[in-house]
Amino acid sequence: MALPNTTTLPKLNFTNRFTTQLPADPRESNGVRQVEHAAFSRVRPATVPDPKLVAYAQEVVDFLELDTAFATSPAFAQIFSGNIQLGGMDPFAMAYGGHQFGNWAGQLGDGRAINLGEIQTSSGDHWALQLKGSGLTPYSRGADGKAVLRSSIREFLCSEAMHHLGVPTTRALSLVTTGENVVRDILYSGNPQPEPGAIVCRVAPSFTRFGNFQLPYSRQDHKLLKELVDYTIRNDFPHLGEPSKDAYIAFYREVALRTAEMIVHWMRVGFVHGVMNTDNMSILGLTIDYGPYGWLDNYDPSWTPNTTDARNRRYRYGHQPQVAQWNLAQLGNALVPLIEEDIPALQEVVDAYSDAFGTGYSDMLAAKVGLKAFEDGDDKLLTELQKILQVTETDMTIFFRKLADWSVEAVTSETTTTDLIAPLFEAYYKPAEITGEVEIAIAGWLKDYAQRIKDDGTSDADRKTAMNKVNPKYVLRNYMAQLAIDDAEEGKNGLVNELLELLRNPYDEQPDMEKWFAKRPDWARSRPGCSMLSCSS
Ligand code: AMP
Ligand code: MG
Repeated sequence: MALPNTTTLPKLNFTNRFTTQLPADPRESNGVRQVEHAAFSRVRPATVPDPKLVAYAQEVVDFLELDTAFATSPAFAQIFSGNIQLGGMDPFAMAYGGHQFGNWAGQLGDGRAINLGEIQTSSGDHWALQLKGSGLTPYSRGADGKAVLRSSIREFLCSEAMHHLGVPTTRALSLVTTGENVVRDILYSGNPQPEPGAIVCRVAPSFTRFGNFQLPYSRQDHKLLKELVDYTIRNDFPHLGEPSKDAYIAFYREVALRTAEMIVHWMRVGFVHGVMNTDNMSILGLTIDYGPYGWLDNYDPSWTPNTTDARNRRYRYGHQPQVAQWNLAQLGNALVPLIEEDIPALQEVVDAYSDAFGTGYSDMLAAKVGLKAFEDGDDKLLTELQKILQVTETDMTIFFRKLADWSVEAVTSETTTTDLIAPLFEAYYKPAEITGEVEIAIAGWLKDYAQRIKDDGTSDADRKTAMNKVNPKYVLRNYMAQLAIDDAEEGKNGLVNELLELLRNPYDEQPDMEKWFAKRPDWARSRPGCSMLSCSS
């Protein structure tokens, strides 16, 4: 593919540590196969007919030290659709395995992700660049390695939204349509349809997953296992020192603590990943692989967005902390051969995860309601809070923002039940249900809450400021992403970019954007893509 010779291509410093330090699959073809004794396979991204930029993230352009003029040039879309390679790129797909829905699935690997390479910026940071949807790799199994616009918009917007919410996540540089159709059966109803194809360029310090270690462990390939863990410690966890039994355990502990922190954030903002298989768990504790994820509209711990998970609800919102622990236990198993089978040391880390999550979760909930700190007696108040969020359908995001506005100073012994609840009314999906027991329960909690805040000595104004820093005003509700998808499928990219802009400042009041501070509309309750999502992407 030729570019006009007026185009200046960026000079990126490709370091490619993964491919230079780890064993490669000797075959360099994209054909589907089992790959043993190798951490990755070199592959070529498929070329696409007509790449067009839909959106890019300015912050990512900036930290990669690219310039904005380049990001909007035709060359950018050519490069980040895989049509043109920059000097220094060394494209490859990683080998990894994983437990899917609790069952060992064997080799999975980058079936539709192709890493272009890893760069180092002038600040010394390393960033791996990865195209999602660039065609077949040895790990594509029965599928085509492509991605559709619908799922690419969801990945692009959500990874950036999560970052701005303060949730550890992979990033997204760009979203490009390819000009070719990809056939998908969204509802698995035997009705496949052509959809526009697209490619997201994802960016992260490392894309290594729990499953990278599990795969050689499952094959008893302890040599490769050790090479991978040593590589990860040296490159991604250098502060742990040279690889040794102690360093392996310290590494495991750090992964566990980072994972606990990530899950606390998910719970704080109401994010449900939807496919917490061990191949979708990042070794750096980043949210990775945005597929059939969803956001809680009404607070419902039993909700899962993933249609494949509808029956067992393994990946429901309220179960995410336990699933992460189970996944960590699987990672621990994979490390057993490296730590002289010191099982108690691994168990200790699994317990440390529980403790870290438990403390982090209590502190997070306390912060969400504006307490200065979580104190011993607060368990009851916070458990009751979760009950009153469920006595009637309550919008999680709106509830916490309205609670920040709710005046403790105005509460007196004369305040009626109705007056107590009135300022929160916008958060309720079925206001007619706020009577009788329901009303009494909510008002009862609000009175206890007011007392606790008075004891804390926090003014309404200070509490509001503190709460609005941890309770977002805007999140990527499922229906919002769907509206952007509907437009983009008609060639209109305005809404994707409007939402990207909105979600840059999710904690700020944005008066022009108030329409997005609203409950899920009724039409979205049961529309595919809004309430339930399939893995078809
Ligand atoms: P996911 O559910 O996205 O985590 O994917 C699970 C596994 O299936 C990973 O190995 C993916 O690379 C692979 N996969 C998912 N979709 C495709 C696709 N369209 N083509 C090839 N491989 C895919
Ligand atoms: Mg995955």
